[in-house]
Amino acid sequence: MMSDAAETLCNDELKGLADSGYHSAEQLDACEQKGFEVTVAEPQHASRKGRGGRFGRDDFNYDAEADVYVCPADKTLKRGGTIRNKNKQYVIYRASTAQCQACPLSKRCLSPKARSRTIHRSIHEASVERNRQRLKDHPAQARERGSIVEHPFGTFKHNWQMRHFMMRTLPKCQGEFSLMALSYNFKRALNLVGFEALMSYCAQN
Ligand code: SF4
Repeated sequence: MMSDAAETLCNDELKGLADSGYHSAEQLDACEQKGFEVTVAEPQHASRKGRGGRFGRDDFNYDAEADVYVCPADKTLKRGGTIRNKNKQYVIYRASTAQCQACPLSKRCLSPKARSRTIHRSIHEASVERNRQRLKDHPAQARERGSIVEHPFGTFKHNWQMRHFMMRTLPKCQGEFSLMALSYNFKRALNLVGFEALMSYCAQN
């Protein structure tokens, strides 16, 4: 989508803002590799906050220099093998069994059957972490995105009750949507700049 937008707008220096439905480690990495800065809201997965009251991913700190995770008991989880899950690749970081078994925090960390703790880190996690930092650094951007992008959806769906297409087949639906977008843009321009200014702009262009 960023590539399409850059091509349409003839601008390679676009910054992207998106809601959590678009959050994807692979796509964040792909955007970085293409030189796009994107900031995507992050979904609150249970694994990050911890299941059953146990420590979650957010309680473990990644030390990029040493390539280890540091747990709440200040022990390290060292890099092991890799694993594929649902077409995604992760690196496994594992604490030593001896350390976990002797740990006073083990009841708050290990699931009932586990003898040691593991963390799965996506191979694209560095991009996810940079995105997380951008979210922290620029909290106003997410609000700005909402006020720009959610306005058309609210207008179409709630004000105009356009909750489904009247036509069938993709080209006809595209035509129908283009008319909706044209109406929206026209109405929005009228509201923002007023009739006289819009007419004078149209006359000049
Ligand atoms: S159980 Fe293991 S990973 Fe968890 S806090 Fe203790 S030493 Fe760290």
